[in-house]
Amino acid sequence: MSVKRAAFITLHACPLAAPGQGKSGGMNVYVRQLAAALGDLEMQIDIFTREHADVANRIETIGPNVRVIHIRAGEPEAHVGELYAHLPEFLGQLNAFREEERLEYDVVHSHYWLSSWVGRELSQAMGVPHVVTFHTLGLIKMQSRAGEVEPAERPVVEAEVMATADRIIAFSPHERDAMARLYGADASKVSLVPCGVDLSLFRPLDQNSVRARLGLNGEKILLYVGRIEPLKGLELLVETAAQMDSEESVRVVVVGADANGDREMDRVKRLAKERDLEDQIDFVGQVDHNELPLYYNAADVCVVPSYYESFGLVALESMACGTPVVAARVGGLSTIIHHGRTGYLKSWRCPEAFANSVEMIISSDGLQQSMGEAARKRAEGMGWDNVAAMIWNEYAVLTGEPVEGDN
Ligand code: UDP
Repeated sequence: MSVKRAAFITLHACPLAAPGQGKSGGMNVYVRQLAAALGDLEMQIDIFTREHADVANRIETIGPNVRVIHIRAGEPEAHVGELYAHLPEFLGQLNAFREEERLEYDVVHSHYWLSSWVGRELSQAMGVPHVVTFHTLGLIKMQSRAGEVEPAERPVVEAEVMATADRIIAFSPHERDAMARLYGADASKVSLVPCGVDLSLFRPLDQNSVRARLGLNGEKILLYVGRIEPLKGLELLVETAAQMDSEESVRVVVVGADANGDREMDRVKRLAKERDLEDQIDFVGQVDHNELPLYYNAADVCVVPSYYESFGLVALESMACGTPVVAARVGGLSTIIHHGRTGYLKSWRCPEAFANSVEMIISSDGLQQSMGEAARKRAEGMGWDNVAAMIWNEYAVLTGEPVEGDN
């Protein structure tokens, strides 16, 4: 059988939602870009997501061979925390739509634990393989930072799906090992396929012109990009700025909106005030994904202070723009960043150590430039076309299609 059609299930992460606000982030970008790159390989991808508050069209074609289909389950405004109860309804509505339209798929690929429940049921009903990408895992999240609470059902569903899925996609060896250690997953069913980056969007640009466009001057710029939520560890960025002992004046630019009201944003702003850094930190809010290359290029260093990142797309986007990254040595970040070559990985959440690494980079034009060049070079091997080819191979193996390298 040849692999032609895949159903993507992404219950709460609609690929049309703007990333960097609410619950919309790396997973939304991943689903959209992977689907587009598979579409370019002539696969037909239908992305099933839940109907949410601002849906313009129930069915939307977003590129060659790729459609987004909104399925009604629960109130459009429902919070992600309430969605477990609506899974059977989502599955029922999806199946009704599929039967009405006489849609068949060769493979089901689900994203995140909630969708993985739907993916398992759907793939079993259709008798086709189930591929799952968890994006984050509940047990790792809870172990990463005190205070992280996840629904009791989450680790149960994750373990059940790991046991029944035909293939599990992990972003890094760290994630694969955690699946085996914490959930008893069979590691031979896990394939390592990293996230990708849009290399034509995220590319090096002239720093002076982008700074002029953004109204930034000649100060050294530290950049943070991402949703503002406790797991992102922004307090460490503020403390790092407070520790800096640079000859040069330093500005911190924070891009992204609060994931939950303004609670975390207010906490970070309060800390900045306590450290007397109010005038040195700009909170610019959510920025359109297509505008982000301006920020990465304006920055001297991108800082990723997270407690946990299953992958860390922001680090890869920054590298693709030729901007070195100083990041916590957690999850997928250690597979993206080459310590000492494309930036620095810090094993301890210690502001002095982060400040020291940032200073090393900003105090040496030579080091900043060579790290930036190495970063871009590393990112060049991680375009979405490469990622899609790897995922296509996974589908092909499961459906009995000959894959490259077969005799
Ligand atoms: N992002 C964006 N605009 C913003 C902030 C973030 O487009 O204002 C995007 C960013 O480019 C990246 C994603 O949101 O692609 C965040 O992904 P990451 O894997 O770093 O974090 P996650 O959101 O998955 O925790």
